[in-house]
Amino acid sequence: MSNRDEFSRKTKDALRLRASNLCSFRGCKRTTSGPSDESPDAVNMTGKAAHIHAAAPGGRRYLAAMTPEKRADISNGIWLCAHHADLIDRDEVTYTPDMLRAMKREHELDCDRKHRAALRGGESSLDLIAIGPDIVFCGELLGVDKIAMAFTFAEFRRRGPARPAQIHRAL
Ligand SMILES: [Zn+2]
Repeated sequence: MSNRDEFSRKTKDALRLRASNLCSFRGCKRTTSGPSDESPDAVNMTGKAAHIHAAAPGGRRYLAAMTPEKRADISNGIWLCAHHADLIDRDEVTYTPDMLRAMKREHELDCDRKHRAALRGGESSLDLIAIGPDIVFCGELLGVDKIAMAFTFAEFRRRGPARPAQIHRAL
């Protein structure tokens, strides 16, 4: 029998959904699942419910004084993409429990803000986008390919000497 204090299925699902199915690592926000071609109902899952304090002795940030229940509790978990789950389990000096809890808190707050905004009708993930030094606007980056960037557009923010006419030409 394993000596790992694993999260339950219910806890893993809650961590994943509270993170909006995105990696919680600061600056990552990679999506962690998608469809698999193996079958019509197959899921390609690349996210992990990572332990803040390790699930077993010898793991990173393991805390001997912690009870097995606390170790498997949702408060000891953070939802990450596979890459960042591996990264935090190779370096407990950089990725301290406090830092991981702060990332989790920030990400859940961001998910909450975007989810509530989406329920209000739209403005789900607006960012301030700068194109060159003079053109700054509020919008959402939809995608980038070799020849074009696609944005939704919400509002111009003028900066520097640009005049509105110049902004229109540039876009
Ligand atoms: Zn990540």
